Amino acid sequence: MEPMIKWDAYSVPTPSFVVEEKLLRKNLEILKRVRKESGAKILLAQKAFSMFHFYPLISEYLDGTTASGIYEARLGKEQFGKETHVFSPAYRQEELLELLPICDHILFNSLSQWKRYKEVALASGKSFGLRVNPECSTQEGHAIYDPCAPGSRLGILAEDLAGEELTGIDGLHFHTLCEQNVDDLITTLQAFEEKFAQYLPKMKWVNFGGGHHITRADYKVDTLIEVIKTFKNKYQVEVYLEPGEAIALNAGYLVASVLDITQNHGVTNAILDTSATCHMPDVLEMPYRPHIINSGKPGEKAYTYQLGGPTCLAGDIIGSYSFDHELQIGDRLIFCDMAIYSMVKTNTFNGMPLASILAVDAHNHWQVVRQFGYEDFKMRLS
Ligand SMILES: *Cc1c(COP(=O)(O)O)cnc(C)c1O
Repeated sequence: MEPMIKWDAYSVPTPSFVVEEKLLRKNLEILKRVRKESGAKILLAQKAFSMFHFYPLISEYLDGTTASGIYEARLGKEQFGKETHVFSPAYRQEELLELLPICDHILFNSLSQWKRYKEVALASGKSFGLRVNPECSTQEGHAIYDPCAPGSRLGILAEDLAGEELTGIDGLHFHTLCEQNVDDLITTLQAFEEKFAQYLPKMKWVNFGGGHHITRADYKVDTLIEVIKTFKNKYQVEVYLEPGEAIALNAGYLVASVLDITQNHGVTNAILDTSATCHMPDVLEMPYRPHIINSGKPGEKAYTYQLGGPTCLAGDIIGSYSFDHELQIGDRLIFCDMAIYSMVKTNTFNGMPLASILAVDAHNHWQVVRQFGYEDFKMRLS
């Protein structure tokens, strides 16, 4: 079923990310129920969604934010408040010194990083944890998102933790999932418990990481609640989840305009003002095919187009889509599920203008919350 758009796609500037308050709240209600019924704490992983215009709203529902480094941590502390957590594969000393006053939980990726900073860390009185690697790959297809692959640089192996003195460590963290259901969490927890349960009597919390697709229609929310309750009872620890995608899943769009239509050996190209490489890089990187409202697969509907961006990169191709009507210059196309991992990854390659950021309120009124210009391109260069 196509999403119902209640704002006028022809009145917004393009390209623009348009995020709806109602859709965000729908996700947040589900997450709030998980928190309430399971007793887990839930953090927003800002890596996936950092539209801080909505942080006051999200903070009504969740416990805080987690960050991948100093800038996200600062943003979370400043705009969201509540708990601020951080994980980084390795901290620079200056960075860690800046993080200590801002963050509640600081996670280390290796024993050498922990030992290097232990003294200054403990003096801050904050809570410290180790990211462990349960060596349990549950995903297929997205190898770049599998931190359990052999040779991974993410998380401490059980064999390397054995016999180590862990005074000062309050919690363990694992992050191994990507867009997965609760079955894969259960499998991962079995591996985690087998390898790391021996350390839990001394721990105050366990963080199950992100990648839980909790707000997807087929996610087994009740099972998740039971799994968390069982774990909390068994080990008497606080449980944290830190999903990113689940917070803004299907909550936003990217609106593009058609600039030109050209032909090449039987292929009809529609050139948009929106680029795969600049505005939705995961289309090329992950890769995946975003849905466009009222479109079909190539050949499914009467008119098929290869959609591409306005950069000089030959491979700046979003994909082939078909429509019931012939596309006209000036037509608007609405790409779905663009709030997550697109807005945070945009870039100005080729001097492309960045996409505007719009918010749609509960009454379906849109508002431009950020527009970019030439200075935003120039500012990052010299
Ligand atoms: C990416 C990441 C998350 C969020 O993952 P989603 O797939 O967006 O839910 C959480 N924690 C860590 C450590 C991450 O790297």
